Parts: sequence; structure tokens; C-alpha cells
Amino acid sequence: MKFDPATRIQELKQFGEFGGVNPSVTDSSTYTFLHAEDMTETFLGHLEGCFLYSRHWNPSNKYLAEALAAMEDTESAWITSSGMAAITCALLQLCQSGDHIVTSVTTYGGTYAFLKNWLPRYGIEVSFVNITNLASVEAAIRPNTRVIYTESVTNPLLQVSNIPKLAEIARRHNVRLMVDNTFTPMIFSPARLGADITVYSMTKFINGKNDCLAGSICGSRDFINRLSNVNDGTAMLLGPVLDTFRSAGILKNLHTLHLRMKKHSENALFLASELEKDGLKITYPGLPSHPQHQLHRQLMNPGFGFGGMIAIDFETEKRANQMMQKMQEAGVGYLAVSLGYFKTLFSCSGHSTSSEIPAEIQYEMGLSDGLVRFSVGLDNDIESTLQKIKSCF
Ligand code: PLP
Repeated sequence: MKFDPATRIQELKQFGEFGGVNPSVTDSSTYTFLHAEDMTETFLGHLEGCFLYSRHWNPSNKYLAEALAAMEDTESAWITSSGMAAITCALLQLCQSGDHIVTSVTTYGGTYAFLKNWLPRYGIEVSFVNITNLASVEAAIRPNTRVIYTESVTNPLLQVSNIPKLAEIARRHNVRLMVDNTFTPMIFSPARLGADITVYSMTKFINGKNDCLAGSICGSRDFINRLSNVNDGTAMLLGPVLDTFRSAGILKNLHTLHLRMKKHSENALFLASELEKDGLKITYPGLPSHPQHQLHRQLMNPGFGFGGMIAIDFETEKRANQMMQKMQEAGVGYLAVSLGYFKTLFSCSGHSTSSEIPAEIQYEMGLSDGLVRFSVGLDNDIESTLQKIKSCF
């Protein structure tokens, strides 16, 4: 059935207490109660609709959470101060010492480092698999496995996860499927494809301005209530709250996300197709040469394209560095990490955002030393951007 996350956002009716077209921004860390009993009931989690303290819930983050839940078609959502806070809080809520996680080996470097170096210190074991090999995912599951973790489109290799098939495996083994959809908001709706929990770094496409960090966790009402429980909720107790002024800014930016995703995708498809014709080694899910091109087509919400991320293999770090410097000078964009910005950003993944992954594992998973990850911007004249790129060869 066709699902339109953009219309879900458009249909939201959220306005300010004085009728402002945007909700008022919360400027308080704590809230008054008219009746002392209501405070007790709110602490116990028996009363909804009252605000207690801004680390728990606050009106600005509630509006943004409602908007994300609508976009993802989940019962509820939670807002965090970074993408890493969303990932770590959700995983720590699901797992405890003695548990086990199966994850894609290809993930954002910070996620990889958390899974590889941090969780084992607290007795949580992690198996790293090729997420496109479903048999190896299932074979890695153990009786103590709690989570299968993946990214819809993985960073930086741009492998497309088969979310419905991973969800089937997860159900068979009573395991939760958690999906990081940072690269493909609106393009994929992981919950509708069977994921239990969707996480975002909203630092990227969702906010789209590179002016702050933010994250979110979307899932069932029960899961979000557990995360925010005052006694043992990971998000409540670790406290990664997003500042309300940032939250209000992101809510406004969410209303243009569909337009931005379409333009990022259109520009990326154009560059990927043209540069592939020139003989460059391009990975882009929108190209028929991509191994999961058909899968992407099958799973995507129509109309938002194949995303703004391209990987170009320049084979050696030296060549990649030369190209990136020339491209910055030529005005193609900026030599910078991060993504989802209105300008094109590029970085050499193995030596930046995936440098946490040891060189031998990078080699095993097929991450070339000269792989440059491009986050294609919103350029109005993408033909002239192409010419600028070509002038750097
Ligand atoms: N997930 C993905 C796919 C990312 O690329 C990143 C950061 O680059 C993160 C999560 C972490 O997000 P943040 O930097 O907002 O903590």
C-alpha cells in the first residue's frame, strides 16, 4: 500500500498556545502542578498530559516527536541530543550484560566503535555480519541475541538492507530489528517494512542545515515509555535531551524535507549516471549497476528518489585527497564530514568517518582506501557542478 510520509507531516495540526502558526518554544526546565497528587501520578507514569521536568518530556520535544512518529507511522518517538545518543540509548534499553547483538559490519564508524569497543566492556557481545547475506545473519543468531542492527542504506558502502526479510528473521527468533534510517528519511519507512525501532541522526538530512546535532528513536508506545521511565529508562537516566530551541528549528525544517530529499536524489542520480559513463567506479543505489538496485526500488516510498549519497572509489588515499582538495577549490562543495547539507560535502571514509574500523576489517568488507563519500547538495545547476568535478580529473 502506498504510504506518503510527506503528507503525514503536512497533515499535522500543531500550533502555538496563542494561535501562532508554529508551536511556542518551551523556555522552562521545570513545570508547575496545580494539584500535588498530579505530580505524584505523573512521576509514577499514571498520568499523561502534564509535564514534569524537561529531561523527561517537554512540549517542544513532544511536538517534534509527534511529527516523527507520524512520518514513520510508529506509535511514538523520542528526541535526543545526537544520533549517537539515539543509537546508544535504544540499544542499552534493549540489552543487558549477557545479551548479544547481530549487526551489519558496515555501519557509521561511531556506531561500529560503540558496538565493538564499548558494549563488550559491559558484557554485551556483538557479531558483525554482511547484512546483505541473510543466511549469515540468521546463522549468527544465538539464544541470547536481543537485536539485529542495521542501516537502511549503510554508511559508507551504500548497501541496501532487506528490511522485510531481516524482520522475518527477527520475528522467527523473537529478536528486535533496529534500523538506522539516517541516509534515507522519507525514502524508506522502516517500521512499515517490519522494523521494531527506527533511529535517526537528525543532524543530517532531517534538519539539513548542519547547525546542530540531534537524534530520534521511533517505535512502539511501550518502548518509548520504557525509555522515559523515571526508574530505569535509559534515555531518562542518561539524559541526552535536545535543547528546545533546536528542537523547534528542526520541526520547521521537517516541513521541507520532502522537497530537499527529492532534489538531493535528483542531483545525485544525475552525477552518478554521468560520472559512471566517464568510467569512474561509482556506487549509487539508483544505478542499475548497484547490486541492490531492484531491492531499493521494491522497498522505497515512491517519489523521493534513491537518496543523496554517492560513493566514488579513487582507489588510493593519495588520489582521493588530491581530488577532494581540487574539488573544494573548484567550488564543488566542502571537504568535510557529515551529510545531508544543502552544499555538497565529501570525505575519504576509511580515513575519517569509518577510521574507527581497523584497516584489515575495512579491506574485508570492501571499503577501499580511496573511497570518497559524497553527500550531494541542493545545487540548482547540477550540470555546472558536473563540469567542475570533471575539471578536477
Ligand atoms: N548514523 C549514521 C548513519 C551517521 O552517519 C551518523 C554520523 O555521521 C550517526 C548515526 C551519528 O549521528 P550524530 O553525529 O548525530 O551523533
